[in-house]
Amino acid sequence: MLLIIKTVTELRKYLDRKRPSKIGFVPTMGALHDGHLTLVGKSKDLTDLTISSIFINPTQFNDPKDFAKYPKTIEQDIEKLESAGCDVLYLPEVVDLYPGGIQDLETFKLGKLENVYEGKFRPGHFQGVCLVMKRLLSAVQPHELFMGQKDYQQCMVVKELIKLENLSVNLHTVPTIREASGLAMSSRNLRLTPENREKAAAIYREMKTMATQLKPGKLELITTPAQQKLESLGFTIDYFDFADANTLEPVSDWDGKQKLVILAAVFLQEVRLIDNLLIAETDVD
Ligand code: AMP
Repeated sequence: MLLIIKTVTELRKYLDRKRPSKIGFVPTMGALHDGHLTLVGKSKDLTDLTISSIFINPTQFNDPKDFAKYPKTIEQDIEKLESAGCDVLYLPEVVDLYPGGIQDLETFKLGKLENVYEGKFRPGHFQGVCLVMKRLLSAVQPHELFMGQKDYQQCMVVKELIKLENLSVNLHTVPTIREASGLAMSSRNLRLTPENREKAAAIYREMKTMATQLKPGKLELITTPAQQKLESLGFTIDYFDFADANTLEPVSDWDGKQKLVILAAVFLQEVRLIDNLLIAETDVD
């Protein structure tokens, strides 16, 4: 039976009474799909109490339209969490996590991570992610934290936050769950027409093509045709590039050794979709 808790005070009371030996935490913004539920499953495998949160965090949206249109499917979400065997849903209101409002909040020293890719195209986004994660982690106090590789840069930012704040929680990065077409599952897919949902599979297809074409030297020979292909299909590109998988420095000339990740952010029909592909050594000729 899924227990729904709406305030941090109630949550702390419950946890102090129950005293689980290992708490697993899966933070989400709702509109749940199999990607989210895989994280819940991993947490169930590794912990004895799984808490998920649903909170559409206002401080991480740089685009008010994106915030307003973020899909909300709370009744179905509750059913899905229940069938996945999640123990607790923490479902706070804005005032519970931001009792002093959302102005003049603390900032985090994220360094370069904040100014590239998602950080560059969504100014302030990762500060908002850190703000909410710090508060959620303080409310839940989990031992194990489960997040998706789908948000590659977000995982790096949260790793940095854990270091900056000296938190004792293990971050597990779970591989991206995809639809049969290859499209990464995402709550925002709900906003695509069925036709565009099919078309969006081109994101993964082009990343795979880039991975198979990879060889040392100038990478624009590989990235430019992929970007052109997407543009010809009607995508608008924020970025679709290779980066250093450990530092997220852009890589234009590859030495054949540096570990790479392909990072993708594109618009289709005003819906912003992100994805990524880690290059495994086996992908390279
Ligand atoms: P969100 O609700 O989009 O904030 O996502 C909540 C968590 O689920 C984040 O850690 C995401 O990285 C993760 N997630 C989202 N989509 C997927 C997916 N397709 N596969 C695996 N994890 C995902």
